[in-house]
Amino acid sequence: MNRTVLILIFTWYSFHLNAQNEWITFYEQSGGTHTPRYHETIDYCQKLAEASNLVHLTSFGTSPQGRKLPLLIVDRDGLHDPEAIKSTGRLILLIQACIHPGESEGKDAGMMLVRDLIMRDEGRGTKDEGRGTRDEKLSGIRHLVSDGLLDHVSILFIPIFNVDGHERFGPYNRINQNGPEEMGWRVTSTNLNLNRDYLKADAPEMKAWLKLYNRWLPDFFIDIHTSDGADYQYVLTYMMETLGQMDPGLTKWCDEVFLPEWTGKLNATGYPVFPYVQFRSWHDPKSGLVRDVAPPMLSQGYVALRNRPGLLIETHMLKPYKQRVEATYECLVNAIEILNQQAKKLQSLLIRADDYVQSPEFRNTPFPLQFETSWSDSSFVEFKGVEYEEIRSDLTGGVWFKYSSTPATFHLPVFSRAIPSETVKLPVSYIIPVEWSVVIERLNLHGILMNRLEKDTVITVTSYKLKNPRWRSGPYEGRHRLSRINYDTYEENRFFPAGSVVIETSQPAARVIAQLLEPKGDGSLLYWGFFDPVFEQKEYAEYYVLEPLAKQMLEEDPELKHEFEQKLASDSTFAKSQRRILYWFFERTPYYDQKRFIYPVARIEQD
Ligand SMILES: [Zn+2]
Repeated sequence: MNRTVLILIFTWYSFHLNAQNEWITFYEQSGGTHTPRYHETIDYCQKLAEASNLVHLTSFGTSPQGRKLPLLIVDRDGLHDPEAIKSTGRLILLIQACIHPGESEGKDAGMMLVRDLIMRDEGRGTKDEGRGTRDEKLSGIRHLVSDGLLDHVSILFIPIFNVDGHERFGPYNRINQNGPEEMGWRVTSTNLNLNRDYLKADAPEMKAWLKLYNRWLPDFFIDIHTSDGADYQYVLTYMMETLGQMDPGLTKWCDEVFLPEWTGKLNATGYPVFPYVQFRSWHDPKSGLVRDVAPPMLSQGYVALRNRPGLLIETHMLKPYKQRVEATYECLVNAIEILNQQAKKLQSLLIRADDYVQSPEFRNTPFPLQFETSWSDSSFVEFKGVEYEEIRSDLTGGVWFKYSSTPATFHLPVFSRAIPSETVKLPVSYIIPVEWSVVIERLNLHGILMNRLEKDTVITVTSYKLKNPRWRSGPYEGRHRLSRINYDTYEENRFFPAGSVVIETSQPAARVIAQLLEPKGDGSLLYWGFFDPVFEQKEYAEYYVLEPLAKQMLEEDPELKHEFEQKLASDSTFAKSQRRILYWFFERTPYYDQKRFIYPVARIEQD
């Protein structure tokens, strides 16, 4: 027999052995090289749900191409309703996989984890057999999960979030990535990246996710990805929003309790982890490490605004798929272990965090809308990198890094202090005119509480006069974003029609409200283009009207004449442009659109 035949027989034999155990997952059967398609994933989840009272399979929406968005609910008493689970005092952990379907570790690790959790849970759960039979069924399956992990934690598991992108399946979807053999595609069927959609919520999938999130308000969130970027030794890096966007008490708990314990456990199990960092120079670890605040358009940044810790996991794309899935599994188990012990403590901190954003103290503290890295604060860390050389390309003339397999530890500066670069004092309320219904609908999706004006009302508000808008040249996530905006504010008595919504900032989602509605919010609706029409001029004046009118205005108003002469003297482009000169006068007539550049949302400063 030649070598190929031997390999074939061996492969068939191991496959046959594995196939005998019905609880082996598709990924395990493949020896860690393949990940299942959508229908195979759903079938396995369905099987788990049928086998165990602890597991409930449902869906939280439907994708544009008609696929159900799957959700597994794992609870030790088989509860699958948020109120019922919350009444037991158990924490709710949301684990999300395949928001980027090419990054499928979370799906494979999560299905194994749910199986191992229910199979290990003694005396409860399976619908027909006793423990002996379960152990027989488990022969050949890894036994990594300790008993009792579900005592204080219930799990919501989304095996595939971006289901349509997942089924754009093929071997060429992730050029930088080392397996699986075939995988899904990064974005949705309409080419939207769900992990940029948390605030603007354009994708139907994200709208469904927000409804799920509001219904459950999970206490802790884990989102699982695969990185791109430089090579290094870590199979896995992580990020929690602890640089300023989240409640101080929760931030302290993440920094001082959760993360030290979790990273310690992972180091002990042979998967040393490191914070997810950028490099000061692109792909060059030796240039130094930078940690940034997670923008709220990303998952872990968004949940931080909702006063809930979110753990981002980024496995390293160059490590073999099997290693990445196993590391992810370890991450999840260790996180659950800590949450199981910390359930009461974390719940009390969550209550305090929700209370704090409703306090006058919070409202009187400048709220950070945007951050920048402080380049004057750094500390030094040991970074487990690999040796690499800088190559000057004879093809492009550029420089690239050739990473080797030789481990090397680098002593590097890390810049991990963020300072607020834009802050605002929150008003008592914001008010949105009824006609901006698309905006109101988005705020509703975020679970923001609002009251509608019952009748037409004149209200004293602070209004924003927007100025100097600039737009980016190309589209981003299906929209044309602003790149810059400024404004002046002024007080006025303004008319609001019945149905306009008043949004008090004293509510748990206060941080989301501020980021969505403040013009300079990080990912505000203004920035995403929801209010673009207010920048447009809709009425024009003819030159034959403006020429004589301008003359008359100058004759009647010496102050205006003085201002005009100064403008002519100081701005030569202006002085040479009939269009600009006439527009300058048009702006100063009562015919000019007084609502142009007025931000429709206003602030109510007093109770
Ligand atoms: Zn990703």
